[in-house]
Amino acid sequence: MTLPDLSDYFVPTQESELIDLLGRFGERAMIVAGGTFVHGLEARGLLSEVEALIDIGRLGLGGISQDAAGVTLGATTTLAELRRADFVQTDPAFGALQDALDYPPVQIRNVGTVGGCLAASAPLYDVPAALFALDGTACVRGAGGARDIPLNEFFVGLFENALRTDEFIAAVTLPKPAARTASAFLKLETNANDLAIINVAVRITLGENGRCADSRVVIGGGVGECYVRAGSAEAALEGGKAGGELFATAAAAVAHDIEPVTDQRGSEAYRRHMAIVYTRRALERALGRMVTGGTNG
Ligand SMILES: Cc1cc2nc3c(=O)[nH]c(=O)nc-3n(C[C@H](O)[C@H](O)[C@H](O)COP(=O)(O)OP(=O)(O)OC[C@H]3O[C@@H](n4cnc5c(N)ncnc54)[C@H](O)[C@@H]3O)c2cc1C
Repeated sequence: MTLPDLSDYFVPTQESELIDLLGRFGERAMIVAGGTFVHGLEARGLLSEVEALIDIGRLGLGGISQDAAGVTLGATTTLAELRRADFVQTDPAFGALQDALDYPPVQIRNVGTVGGCLAASAPLYDVPAALFALDGTACVRGAGGARDIPLNEFFVGLFENALRTDEFIAAVTLPKPAARTASAFLKLETNANDLAIINVAVRITLGENGRCADSRVVIGGGVGECYVRAGSAEAALEGGKAGGELFATAAAAVAHDIEPVTDQRGSEAYRRHMAIVYTRRALERALGRMVTGGTNG
């Protein structure tokens, strides 16, 4: 086991200190929030080049707030705190988050953080797919100041994201959903607590005429370099009458957007087929949520 020397474990109490440390150690620095992903790297011997572990737990980056523009999730908000939030529990627009947050084991939910699950940039994880489908934005700070990175632009490859080495995620924002919006998430796994073979997060907004006015379809779990936004499926949904026929057509269009891999947990053909099946089911689940009511209609 190759842990960095404990003298290289930093616990900054000011953001300026964190930014200085990130600047000083560059690629050799690693932020630790809940540590659940970092621990996995350490267990696989992948921390040998890290010289500074930087614990961000004392920067006051936690907490959830809501205003007219939407919701702000502090980066060190735990998945358990997010799961308990009233809007996650009750608002059909945030149904995808409610679904996705059911999957991580309770021990992981209790310490794993919103910022950490995004920064890990592992498309096998579920919560980021839901945050992506809800049009989340990472609010980032670093030596060059603050900037916002929509999640659509955040995930750039497997374990790769758009953060510069001197930057950290301070918060994630989710815009206030439009009326008649609902979302849902589904995951295909080989057994409980497995990583996703595929996962799908969808969000739909209906016009007053019941037609689909806006949508997001996000697929993860080995169907591309990172999460894939299924633009062909979204285009197929646009303007259509929400229901089984439209959802089947939109789900079939997913095949144009994904490039599934074959591995020990599923073949390319299996992933392709199940991405279609799960997209259709997720759309039906979202519509079902809207029909059975909620707080945002
Ligand atoms: C056994 C197990 C089962 C799991 N099951 C699921 C599951 O079913 N579904 C699911 O969605 N997820 C699952 N996960 C993943 C889990 O959600 C993530 O590991 C967790 O959310 C990461 O958060 P963390 O705070 O522990 O991150 P950390 O391990 O502290 O950090 C993760 C990465 O992000 C970086 N980082 C952390 N915070 C920031 C920040 N604010 N700014 C910039 N970089 C940052 C770190 O340097 C590191 O590279 C599982 C993990 C484990 C270990």
